[in-house]
Amino acid sequence: MTDRLKFALVAHDACKPALVDWATKHASLLEGVDIYATGTTGGKLQDSNPKLNIHRFKSGPLGGDQQIGALICEGKLDALIFFIDPLSPMPHDVDVKALTRLAIVYDLPMASSPATANFIVQALCNPPA
Ligand code: PGA
Repeated sequence: MTDRLKFALVAHDACKPALVDWATKHASLLEGVDIYATGTTGGKLQDSNPKLNIHRFKSGPLGGDQQIGALICEGKLDALIFFIDPLSPMPHDVDVKALTRLAIVYDLPMASSPATANFIVQALCNPPA
């Protein structure tokens, strides 16, 4: 792994458009970041922003959330941007809990909405001089 910042980006289906919009808005900063994403999220991000450096794991419900969790416990991430759908029941709710729990255990900056994700990207990618 390099010295570049490493972010994990994940969004539930209803939130994928918001995450794509967010990443597009911050594309110039995110071009300097190594991005790890669950499969479907990563595909949509790459299609809309081909210049981003995205490593795609398995789809979240097939283990992608847990692959990102493994990066967290190995200390290999600088932030988790996880747009969680608060209105739909998820068959893989246990994975959602496990991933957010690990982010808390390891005190990893985590955002679950565009407003908080804005703070994280500005603080980490564009810190005040
Ligand atoms: P997906 O997974 O990007 O493969 O849809 C997201 C999730 O964890 O639900």
